[in-house]
Amino acid sequence: MRVSVLGAGTMGHGIAQVAAMAGYDVTIRDIEESILESGVEAIESNLQGGVDRDKVTEAEKAATLERIDTTTSLPDAVGDAEFVVEAVPERMDLKRETFEEVAANAPAEAVIATNTSSLSITEIASVLDRPGRAIGLHFFNPVHIMGLVEVVVAEQTDEATLSAATEFVEAIDKDPVTVTDSAGFASSRLGVAVGVEAIRMLEEGVAGPEDIDAAMELGYNHPMGPIELCDVVGLDVRLDILEYLREELGERFRPPQLLKRKVRAGKLGRKSGEGFYVWEDGEVVGVSGDWGEQ
Ligand code: NAD
Repeated sequence: MRVSVLGAGTMGHGIAQVAAMAGYDVTIRDIEESILESGVEAIESNLQGGVDRDKVTEAEKAATLERIDTTTSLPDAVGDAEFVVEAVPERMDLKRETFEEVAANAPAEAVIATNTSSLSITEIASVLDRPGRAIGLHFFNPVHIMGLVEVVVAEQTDEATLSAATEFVEAIDKDPVTVTDSAGFASSRLGVAVGVEAIRMLEEGVAGPEDIDAAMELGYNHPMGPIELCDVVGLDVRLDILEYLREELGERFRPPQLLKRKVRAGKLGRKSGEGFYVWEDGEVVGVSGDWGEQ
């Protein structure tokens, strides 16, 4: 079976890798050769990491790379695909345009999946003549490490598409969770709810970042506390998601002032060197001074 992955970025190259490792022939499409080259290099490097840790053999690495083709042509990428996963940037106009192009060029029975993390799959699917073949497959970053895939069922998704998508997720050795198409699906909605409450606790002076994080790490076995996780995800990204969830689900997702203030100050978390914590070389080296009531 041929799988076509649209986008060779953070998510696309990872999805292509796990599909090829499972034995599928994979074609990756991106808009520039240089991006495709970087995507394949990232796959090689992931596989080499697996070889170094004795998780992947040299033969498996070679066979996986052998199964991956790249192209900048969308018609070539999807022409004989039975399963298409799009991982292009998170913009509704681009997702809809991509779905239209895929439908015009892919076999009529191909499943068309989107890796959107927040957009309405029902709205994306509505551009198709046969929207029953559209579905969401929400992978997690890094794709070759994370086990979860949310299988997101749009209003129009038909039973055959849901079965094919679930089988695909199992075949690539991931764990599917089925959710209906609603804001934040299951994972973002719950993850963001915990994160936003943790920030409100900082604002109210209930505890400092380290104590709040330790409470969840030690008390609930979370691998990382909610405040540190906000820094890792990016405070700007968290703010955007909260604004969207507030619009869709109501005031309980209202972004806290403290978060807005941090974003306005350019304190975006790990990527900018400071958020709720201070970061150096990707590691926490201290707590940012300006948390709590002031
Ligand atoms: P990215 O920017 O790393 O990659 C997107 C790629 O798509 C880029 O290489 C870009 O050149 C390419 N592209 C743009 N237009 C294209 C087109 N018409 N056809 C093919 N490729 C095109 O983005 P990403 O982080 O991989 O995100 C992709 C999707 O996955 C988004 O919908 C995002 O919301 C979702 N997602 C991201 C994460 C994450 O942690 N990054 C997690 C889950 C889901």
